Amino acid sequence: MPFKDIIGHDREITILKKALLNNKVAHSFLFAGPEGVGKRFAAISLAKSLNCSASADDFCGDCQNCRDIDNSSYSDVFMIEPREPESKGGDVDHETGIIKIDAVRDAQQRLSYRAARGGKKICIVDGAEKMNKEAQNAFLKTLEEPPPDSVIILIVSDGAALLPTIVSRCQRINFRPLPRNIMVGIIKERLAVTDDVAALLCSLSGGSVGKALGWDIESMLEQRKRIVEMLPRLSLTDMEGLFNAAEEISKGERPVESLEFLKMWYRDIAVIKEGRDDMVVNSDLLPVLKKHTQGQTFSKITSGFKAILDAQADIMPPRYANKQLTVENLLMQLAQ
Ligand SMILES: [Zn+2]
Repeated sequence: MPFKDIIGHDREITILKKALLNNKVAHSFLFAGPEGVGKRFAAISLAKSLNCSASADDFCGDCQNCRDIDNSSYSDVFMIEPREPESKGGDVDHETGIIKIDAVRDAQQRLSYRAARGGKKICIVDGAEKMNKEAQNAFLKTLEEPPPDSVIILIVSDGAALLPTIVSRCQRINFRPLPRNIMVGIIKERLAVTDDVAALLCSLSGGSVGKALGWDIESMLEQRKRIVEMLPRLSLTDMEGLFNAAEEISKGERPVESLEFLKMWYRDIAVIKEGRDDMVVNSDLLPVLKKHTQGQTFSKITSGFKAILDAQADIMPPRYANKQLTVENLLMQLAQ
C-alpha cells in the first residue's frame, strides 16, 4: 500500500514524498495534530519508504522489509510509547501513560548500532509529549547529534508540552483533522458497519479515527449502554449503588472513554432540550435519552457537563488523580 492510498493528507504526504525524492529527509520530524488523524500511520509509512527494497521514494508494502516493519519485527524500526506510571513494563496506556528516561536511553542505545539491513534506523515516539522533563532532556542530546542513518519521528497531539529546544530541532509537519465525511467513510469501510454506527463511533471517538478503529464495537456500545442506563438511578440516598457504579467505570478497561460517553450523553440532553433531535449523537438510544432529559434544567446539564470535563482532566496527565475517587466525586455531583 503506497503513499497514494493514505486518505485525506495530500499536503502532508507531498512534503514527505518530495523529501524522499530529493534524498533530503530530515534527521528528525515532529508530526503534530489531533489524536487519531493518521500521524502514526504516516510515520510507519515513512519508515517503510526509507527501508523498502522495491521503491526508493515510496513503499510497496509487500517486500520483506515492509512486511517486517508492519509486524514490528524489523529491528531498526522501533516505537516508544507512554506506559502507565504505576505499571512495570505492563500495558501501554496512551491516555494516562508517561515516557520515562529509561525508554529514551534504550532508544539511544538502539540508534547507536549500525543499521542491520543497511537501510535507515527509525525511532518513532508516539505520544512524545508524554516524555517527562528528564526524558525530554535526555532525548535532546540525540536530536542535537543524530546518529548516522537514523531518523527520529516525534508524534504529538499537544506540541506545547514539548521543550521548545526539542521542537526547534525537528521538521514540523502539521496533520490537519480529517473532514467528518471522510472519517465516517474510513470507519464504515474498515469496520464494516452501517452509516449510523460509523457516524456514532466518529462522534464518540471525538473525531479520532485511530481510536475508533481500535475499538471492539460490540463491547464498546454495550459499555456505553450500561453507563448511561445507570445515570438515572444515581442517588445520594443510595451511596452503595453510586460507589459500585464508580467502581465499574474507574476499574473498567476504558475509564477515559467511559467519561467521554457521559460527556456525549450530556451534550445530547442539551441538544434535545433545544429541540434538535436531528443533532443527537446517541441516536440509537433516543428513547432512553428523551426519558433522561425530562426534569433536567440547563443549569443542571451545564454543571454536569463541566463536572465530567473536570474529572477527565483530573485522571489524565499531569494530574493523575485517583480514578475511583475522581469518578465517585463526579457521580455524586451528577446525582444531585
Ligand atoms: Zn517494500
